[in-house]
Amino acid sequence: MLVVSRDRYPAGELDRANERIDLQFDPPMRTLRLVGELRAALEPARRTGRTIGLVPTMGALHAGHLSLIAAARAQCDVVVMSLFVNPAQFDERVDLDRYPRREHEDGELAERAGVDLLFAPAPEEVYPPGFSTSVEVRGLTDRLEGEVRGRAHFNGVTTVVCKLLNMVAPDVAYFGQKDAQQLTVIRRLVADLNLTVRIAACPTVRESDGLAMSSRNAHLSPEERTRAPALHHALAAADAAVSEGERSADALLERARETLRRAGVEPEYVALVDPCKLEPIARLEQPALLALAARVGSTRLIDNAILEPSPSASEQCHPSPAAVAG
Ligand code: AMP
Repeated sequence: MLVVSRDRYPAGELDRANERIDLQFDPPMRTLRLVGELRAALEPARRTGRTIGLVPTMGALHAGHLSLIAAARAQCDVVVMSLFVNPAQFDERVDLDRYPRREHEDGELAERAGVDLLFAPAPEEVYPPGFSTSVEVRGLTDRLEGEVRGRAHFNGVTTVVCKLLNMVAPDVAYFGQKDAQQLTVIRRLVADLNLTVRIAACPTVRESDGLAMSSRNAHLSPEERTRAPALHHALAAADAAVSEGERSADALLERARETLRRAGVEPEYVALVDPCKLEPIARLEQPALLALAARVGSTRLIDNAILEPSPSASEQCHPSPAAVAG
């Protein structure tokens, strides 16, 4: 370890300078592929009580991912981003094959956004020969995305997220509200397995016409791209109906479906559910999750919004960070 001389620095600054060198997190960002390397790189930070933030991604970074990194950068001493296109969570082989892979550009974006360590393992590092364990969150995963994509999807997500949390052992892990069901499922996983991590949710980042940013948007043809904001418009139409006093779930869902129909977009599902249990509700009396999925051409898109019967009725449904960390 390089040690900075005491003659040149006042005491406090000297300690900070030496710690910085010790942690080796000055730019350039380091890219690591092995779990052992990752643990070794994080050990000095952990030993000296630094907070570690993890941003799990499948790459093809856009402003949504960058907002998660920005939140981690603002709140944590060390920021780790994982980049792993997890084969286990793809229910369609063709979706996996055509998932955009741009590791070089992702690395540059991540570094500029302030990531200290990029963890980009090969599939064999995550799933070595003989791998035979699965982490399953029951119930919550049967609905919405689980119903359409099948059990394997969320089992793939929860297994890999559990593994990443064990590999990095972060203080905080950052997820997007864009994947609202995934967020609910991960909070359940963390609470059920007593994992000592805080899950932070970041708001959905959108294009200027409302389309939620997604790595899959790159697959939309120019014509499909003009129809894709219909998902956001459908959520906005239901929200406007709430503002007009509508509380019936059937009426709100119909408002959303009608908006999709007018844009020529056929939904896979449109559902108004309790944000914690993900069970359908009949009337909007508490804040509820309006979630929808649709194929635009061959591209599958999802989006969601929290509908609130009155702004002041908002309440915290998820276990508090303190309860989760217990
Ligand atoms: P992905 O690379 O698609 O697996 O996404 C990695 C993380 O980024 C997940 O926590 C997503 O919820 C989050 N994310 C994806 N799109 C957005 C978005 N438009 N706004 C905010 N977060 C997002």
